[in-house]
This record gives sequence, structure tokens and C-alpha cells, in this order.
Amino acid sequence: MTEKVDLIVKSGTVLTFDEEESRFANGAVVIKDGKIVDIGEQLDILQDYEAKDVIDVDGDLIMPGLINGHTHAAMSALRGYSDDLPLDKWLEYIIPAENKIMGKEMVYWGTLVSAAEMIRSGITTVCDSYFFEEDAARAFKKSGMRAICAQGIVDFPTPQWEDPKEKFEVIEQFLESFPKDEDSIVNPALFVHAPYTTSPESYYRARELASKCGIRLFTHLAETENEVVEIKKKYGRTPVRHLEKEGVLSENFTAIHANWVDDEEIEILSNYGSSVVVCPGSGAKLAAGVAPVTSFIKTGIPVGLGTDGPASNNRQDLFYEMDLLAKLQKIISKDPTTLKAKTVLATALFMGAEAIGLEDKIGCLKKGMAADIIVVDLTRPHAAPLFDYMSHLVYSARGFDVKTNIINGRVVYHWGKIYPFDEPGAIAKLFEIGNQLL
Ligand SMILES: [Zn+2]
Repeated sequence: MTEKVDLIVKSGTVLTFDEEESRFANGAVVIKDGKIVDIGEQLDILQDYEAKDVIDVDGDLIMPGLINGHTHAAMSALRGYSDDLPLDKWLEYIIPAENKIMGKEMVYWGTLVSAAEMIRSGITTVCDSYFFEEDAARAFKKSGMRAICAQGIVDFPTPQWEDPKEKFEVIEQFLESFPKDEDSIVNPALFVHAPYTTSPESYYRARELASKCGIRLFTHLAETENEVVEIKKKYGRTPVRHLEKEGVLSENFTAIHANWVDDEEIEILSNYGSSVVVCPGSGAKLAAGVAPVTSFIKTGIPVGLGTDGPASNNRQDLFYEMDLLAKLQKIISKDPTTLKAKTVLATALFMGAEAIGLEDKIGCLKKGMAADIIVVDLTRPHAAPLFDYMSHLVYSARGFDVKTNIINGRVVYHWGKIYPFDEPGAIAKLFEIGNQLL
């Protein structure tokens, strides 16, 4: 008797990234109801199944989808609008431009185009943080991506609220707009912008709300050296100590960037069970800094990898980000043996999943996990010959080597085509929105 299943991906090298680091040289993954029901050498397992669809990858690599731990997807509408500036000056350009175009339309279409960019480069899960986040959620649902949609919180007026006093009403409505659904792949969270734009009271309320709803709280933290100086001047403490004092840290807390933290602050984050997501491309472009990733990992803090928004990177491609993460850590430590390719991959896979609280669902391929799977072609000139998969994935592969992207068992991208939505139509809309700034 064979079991009826939805999809089989077969005839490739399968790297599972599970605890045993299992590999199958001529492997297959069997998928039913969005989950992996079997995985192994295809000669051992395929006789047990009958699938509606079969993808034969013809020797390509089958691996878990990448996890983008931090972006502001809608900001694709501002990609390249302002470059080559430090963060404070960059914000002086970006915020007024953003206020001109930000709204439900810009967020929906900007997010959808970012989803296309991410899907094409092998990202299956994204943590997004912006305003009008219900429209970002609408776009991610359309795109087929797995997403955590974190509604932005700042203490000044935004196109989403004229009076900052109204913001928690808006935020509660946003949270209520997500029906309780265990199987949903698009779920809410909160994103407090940064300690220099948001008061301790707002942080505390966000923390209370997040813990009441059982959702994650994200914030930009200790991004620049200047932020540390400013927060110290205002509150008498560095950013991590400031949030600790205000009762914000918890195991559902993820600090984004964390470039400027001392050893004691790393211990503090670790003691609370908090996580970190680093964004090497954005940190380099804005010269904001390089996070002490090796120290985080040594202390046991789960580290995820993010692209940050497309206006401050300007790519949303985790292959590029993995390469940069490794190289920047080697430069700052003056040690080429630090942060090996295998550990870098962990930040975009299972450790990245832990940093956003999804380690039970995604980050590796094994029975019972979500079927978030990519197929990567490692036969192009920049990847020949092949001695070591880990090395190639971090130092040689590019986003465009991804041939197929499967999210929750659904094929969303295959051989150049995105299936859930009209990609050229979305790009045309984003051009129209961007043209308002010309
Ligand atoms: Zn950011």
C-alpha cells in the first residue's frame, strides 16, 4: 500500500541541516499538508508514496529555505533614493520621502515586490517590521511567503497616526485583525523602532502587549556608536542596560543589529534568553558597525541574519549577506578561522529560526517540520568544481542560483516564474509609486 502525498522533490543531494547533519546523496523529500512526512535516500523511501506532483531536480542541491530575520520590505519603494550617508543623515532624507508616499498602497506593493526578490533568492521566511503592517501581511499572504509581520511603534506622528497618543489603539486593532490560527504562516509581532525614537513608557507597553498576546517584540538596538552616546546621555545607561532597567528584555525579545554592545551587555541579553538578528550589509553601508557575532554565539545567544530594508542595503539576498557576515567577522577579529561557513549558514537556517521563535517549525529538513525547501544549482561557472557545499553556499553561491522555492509545501517559484502573483504587474505598480518622488 502506498500513501498518497502532495509533492515529492527528488533526485538531488539533500542537506538537511538537522542535529545529525544528515545528507542524502540521491535523496528525496516527501511532502503532505505543508509538512515533511519523509526524507531520505530515494531508493529507500519512494516506493511507499504516490504523489500528485513530482519535481525531479536532476542532481541539484535540496536544502531548507533561508530565513530573513529582519527587513522593512515596503521600503523597496525607496531603494536607492538616498545612499552613501551615515544613519542620522540618511534618516533625515528618508523620513520626509517616506512620509510623502507611505500608506496602504505603498506598503502593499512595496512588500509584494520585496517578496518577489526574496523568493527568487531562496528566502522562505521573513521577519518584517514597518508601518501599516496589516497591508504588509496582506502582501505576504498573497506571495505565499512565511512571515512574521511586526507593527512599527515610534513616539512621533506617522502617516499611520497623526497623534502618537492614538498609536496603541491602532496597534491593538492590528493585532485583532489576525484570527487565532495555528496553521497560519503569516503572524503578527511588534517592532519598537529604537530607544532614540521611542520612550521607556512605549517600550514597556509594547512589552506588556507582546507578552499578553504571546508574540515577539523586535527593536533596533545599539546600532551605531552615536546611539550609545545619546542613550547614555539621556538615561545614564547604555542601550541594552536601558532596556533591561525598563523591563523590556525577555525570551520573546529580539534585538536587531546589536553592533555596539560590551561583554556585560552580551551576558545580560543571554541571561534573559533574548535573541539577536544581525544585518551586516546594512551595518557596512551606513558604517553603523559590525556586531560581535562570535561572542554572541559563544555566550549561547541565538543569532539570526537579516538583510535590513532595501533602502539601507540595498539587496534582500541572504547569500550576499552570509558572505559579508563571514568576511566582516574575520576582519574585526583579524582571524580568518573565525565564524566558519557552517556556522554562518546556521544563522540563516536553524539558529536564525531560534532567534525568531520558529525553531519547532523551520530551519532544517526533517519529518514533521514545515516543507520550506529550496533547490540550488551549483553547476554554474562560479561554483565549479564542488569540494564543499558549506563553502560554496557561503562564499560562491548567489541568490540567482536558486531554481525552486517551496513554502509550506507550495511551489511558489520554479525555473524563473513566481506562481502566486503577477510579478511584472507588481513591479510596474512600484515604479508608479516611486515616480511620485521624482
Ligand atoms: Zn531595520
